[in-house]
Amino acid sequence: MPPQQMGFNPTQSSTMGPVSHPQNMPAQNIPPPTMAPQFLPPQPGQQPQLSQPQHVPQFSQHPQQLQPQIVPSRPIQPVHAPPMVNQPIQQTGLIGQSPNMDIFRKAPVSPVNPPVATDFVRCSMSKIPKTPALLSKCKIPLGVTVTPYPKNTDLQVPVINGVIVRCRKCRTYLNPYVEQIEQGARWRCNLCMLVNEYPPSFDVDPATQQYVDRSKKAELLYPVYEFIAPVEYMVRAPQPPAFVFVVDVSHFAVSTGMTAMAAKIILDSLDHLPNETGLSRIAIIAVDSAIHFFNLSLSLPEPQSMVVPDLSDIVIPCKTSDLLVSVNECRASVEEVLKRLSNLYSNTQVGTVAFGSALNAACNLIAPIGGKVVGLLSSLPTVGEGALKLREDTKLYGTPKESSMLQPATNFYKMLATEAAKNQVAVDLFLFPSGYMDIASLSCIAKYTGGQLFMYPAFNAASREDAVKFASDFSSFLETEFGLEAVLRIRATQGITIPTYHGSFFFRSSDLLALPNVAQDHSYSAQMTLDESLAVPTIGIQAAFLHTTCSGERRIRVINGSFPVTEDPKELIQWIDTGALVDILTKIAIDKVLNGKIEDSRDYIFGKVCELLSFYRQANGIGQNQQLQVCDSLRSLPILALGAIKSVSSFSFHFQLTDHVVCASTDRQCTGRREELFHECCQVWIDRRQRVPDCPVLVADSSVARIGWAARSKDWQDYAPSGPQPRL
Ligand SMILES: [Zn+2]
Repeated sequence: MPPQQMGFNPTQSSTMGPVSHPQNMPAQNIPPPTMAPQFLPPQPGQQPQLSQPQHVPQFSQHPQQLQPQIVPSRPIQPVHAPPMVNQPIQQTGLIGQSPNMDIFRKAPVSPVNPPVATDFVRCSMSKIPKTPALLSKCKIPLGVTVTPYPKNTDLQVPVINGVIVRCRKCRTYLNPYVEQIEQGARWRCNLCMLVNEYPPSFDVDPATQQYVDRSKKAELLYPVYEFIAPVEYMVRAPQPPAFVFVVDVSHFAVSTGMTAMAAKIILDSLDHLPNETGLSRIAIIAVDSAIHFFNLSLSLPEPQSMVVPDLSDIVIPCKTSDLLVSVNECRASVEEVLKRLSNLYSNTQVGTVAFGSALNAACNLIAPIGGKVVGLLSSLPTVGEGALKLREDTKLYGTPKESSMLQPATNFYKMLATEAAKNQVAVDLFLFPSGYMDIASLSCIAKYTGGQLFMYPAFNAASREDAVKFASDFSSFLETEFGLEAVLRIRATQGITIPTYHGSFFFRSSDLLALPNVAQDHSYSAQMTLDESLAVPTIGIQAAFLHTTCSGERRIRVINGSFPVTEDPKELIQWIDTGALVDILTKIAIDKVLNGKIEDSRDYIFGKVCELLSFYRQANGIGQNQQLQVCDSLRSLPILALGAIKSVSSFSFHFQLTDHVVCASTDRQCTGRREELFHECCQVWIDRRQRVPDCPVLVADSSVARIGWAARSKDWQDYAPSGPQPRL
């Protein structure tokens, strides 16, 4: 069926006011909803509702976790139990207070020189067990978390435009932790121990051809630095940022005000999109039961809407260059469409959304240059490609079949993600469900393309709280720079292997993570195992991050960490990085959620805390009847771990459980915003009636928390793309 074309009605005009600034939110100008929300769970960040005792998880439901041999403490005293330690954590009612973020930000800094840049790389143990036996005994997962683009860091990353020096054997980049031998004539790799030569050109500035003092070389001074990537690190020339917005214009989306608000925020953000080079591109697609393209060409007197109703064989109705246009050159056309988008569909009665088909069209549209597809959806997509059904069965909750609802119902979104990732396209989702939306299926498109997922349950633009939250998130999302066409590889000293990775990415090979987009603060974690006893006093970890900046520069960011090795159990536990440890634990727990029962994940975290405290007691010779005085590094562990437990627990008390769990497992915080995650986790209610000795903080509230998600590497490797790969 040929596309239908129509022009804009010139009599239509926008009546919307500015919405990008929360304090100026003109809710009266947003069309009021005509459909009542089905439920109103609290928004993330909302204070816990303490008057909902029916939502309180009862720890006494899991007495099996309180086995004496596991829990190293006194008998349980449910009421007025004495505190574990005399620390503020016992005394702070966290209700209504902002938690002290220092306990998450501060990591033990390894006694190495230069100090490890903990904003970029953290290890669950800042001192590494020397033997596999000691690692097994301490019960702590050994893992590393890498944050390539930390948002709030004081560390300056020097940029090097010169010869790239790497180990001949393991391809490690030269770094400050290598050993200089023969008065600096050669260097010993800190990962494989091979002695390497310096190339003759290393000491010469390529620009001035002058000798450069070795003591001023950034590679040997800074734990994090960047190279300007030469052509051999490029598959193609750097591409400009590109955005394709897929906006739901069905009746429900329009009636809740989502369509109008999204269009207004995009319009207000046009000046702030990453567009330093002036080459950024934009396209707009509206979707209901058909797909509506907009020809934004300068050659037309006004933008032209082109409707493709045939969802079985979607054809791009005009030249790609007329749909995906320069933000600068076609600014007037883009503004015109955005201003009129909601009015154009204000009287729509179409109740279905062909969202999968629209995403497919958007991915095809942007495939030649890669970029970002941003999907905004208000209801279950029931027509077109990737159509979904209402399949939530509440009778399965708490049963072994529970996880079946967390698995995608169709392979469509994963396969679409596979193609998108190959074409360097990331898909970000903003979901506004009023009921079940099968996010388990939809989320695959964000998971496997390095995208993000935001969810606003029962969204209503007339609600100031909803409007502020969405406006804040969406405008920040649009205006923040990100990395493009990235790959990440993590290396570790010989004797350490990395079997499992966590995060939002796509495996290009067994240890090369493909990241079509990398947002700020996203982190990527890896679990590590010891193959043998470590024969070195310190181990090295290096993450190489090849990416294109929004300003069109290809860069290799090299992130280095060095961690001493110890045989002393006491020392080992004193150097635990609690924030990194809980980050890893949470991601492992979420992996269990997606493959088992929610209760198993909750018990996993709780059990690990018990095992760790038991190990601490043994290592320090503290008897079972003695008061346990924990070291500084462990003082924040209970609140963090139980914050994560709360996050898992809270899901079982909500409507649309599966949607919430999957959203939690895929949203932006899970892919890595550790501080925001912990901030939410710490909006906790310390239930003094259920305090367990040595584990003083039990948490429960009804807020929808978000927790990290675990990538199932096996799944992703099945879909690893072929073709040329950058050398990294
Ligand atoms: Zn090496």
